[in-house]
Amino acid sequence: MAEIYYEDDADLSVIQSKKVAVIGYGSQGHAHALNLRDSGVDVVVGLREGSSSRAKAEEQGLTVKSVADAVKEADVIMILLPDQVQGAVYQAEIEPNLKSDAALFFAHGFNIRFGYIKPGAGHDVCMVAPKGPGHVVRRTFVAGQGVPDVIAVEQDASGNAWELTKAYAKGIGGTRAGVIKTTFTEETETDLFGEQDVLCGGVSKLIEYGFETLVEAGYQPEIAYFEVCHELKLIVDLINEGGLSKMRWSISDTAEYGDYVSGPRVITPDVKTHMKEVLSDIQDGSFAKRFMDDQAAGAPEFKKLRAEHESHQIEKVGGELRKMFTWNTNKDTDYVEGHAS
Ligand code: NDP
Ligand code: MG
Ligand code: MG
Repeated sequence: MAEIYYEDDADLSVIQSKKVAVIGYGSQGHAHALNLRDSGVDVVVGLREGSSSRAKAEEQGLTVKSVADAVKEADVIMILLPDQVQGAVYQAEIEPNLKSDAALFFAHGFNIRFGYIKPGAGHDVCMVAPKGPGHVVRRTFVAGQGVPDVIAVEQDASGNAWELTKAYAKGIGGTRAGVIKTTFTEETETDLFGEQDVLCGGVSKLIEYGFETLVEAGYQPEIAYFEVCHELKLIVDLINEGGLSKMRWSISDTAEYGDYVSGPRVITPDVKTHMKEVLSDIQDGSFAKRFMDDQAAGAPEFKKLRAEHESHQIEKVGGELRKMFTWNTNKDTDYVEGHAS
């Protein structure tokens, strides 16, 4: 059984006695900085010159400095930049300014696991990875709850890295929900696998194929959108609450029977074979290399794929329909539909 820690297993004072630099103020950055601040932790936000995030952080009452200056005074540095830029920022601005005993924190193991960042032996190297988007990490904290984290220690230079890691997780609200012990390797490989095969890649493709199949058969795109996309959230909420069994308990017997007989016709055993191939590309570093090489070249493949998927018919139909949903309040005010193109 996995080791899980809750509120009583972590001592907030361990992180309250440290100066924490949160580098980046995006999805995770804003949530960590604000949750820590509200937990009584001394936080400074580190951002690049001319950063578009600066105003947002200052509006929330946070102190913003350059990455170098934030790092210089910090005991704990949480790196919350996009994974593909962390290595360059680390080498140019973080590493040269680190206190000799500063602890380095990550919310995903990518750069450590694949060797893009190689910290010196004197630093604790720790992970607190919320298993949810940053905006939900903040929203649930404000509501008095938390998003579960996975935590890991790659290097325990101080001998106190685990206590520090648990305290950090408590500061962002993770121990309210439960925090699971893992390793950098396990978190990185399973996180990439989950998002590629199931949560993001798998689900997106399933929705697109379902939509295309109905529309190509002559059904109205709006109806297709509701059947294969809109209702997904309602189904996922039930799975989240009580597993696949609760979902199957709530749906009609017709739907449940169709689940059993048709699910395996669509998701055939060769899907699992493909999943294993994707997993091995993650494990041997070839996915990481493909992503990082493309990013280093200005992300031509990434940008082309993003544009292709944004122009899919389901995105146009869904965009029009969602405007009519009075209950869809688009809680994340910094999200703009069609943001990338
Ligand atoms: P974001 O893409 O939201 O980070 C954006 C922030 O990084 C902004 O403050 C931006 O500042 C800054 N930034 C971007 N490029 C640079 C650069 N070249 N130099 C300096 N600052 C830069 O990151 P996420 O929050 O999505 O991810 C952060 C980490 O958390 C990653 O390791 C990710 O894997 C992990 N994670 C993310 C989750 C999520 O919910 N998104 C979930 C769990 C883990 P500016 O305004 O200047 O552009
Ligand atoms: Mg991820
Ligand atoms: Mg139905």
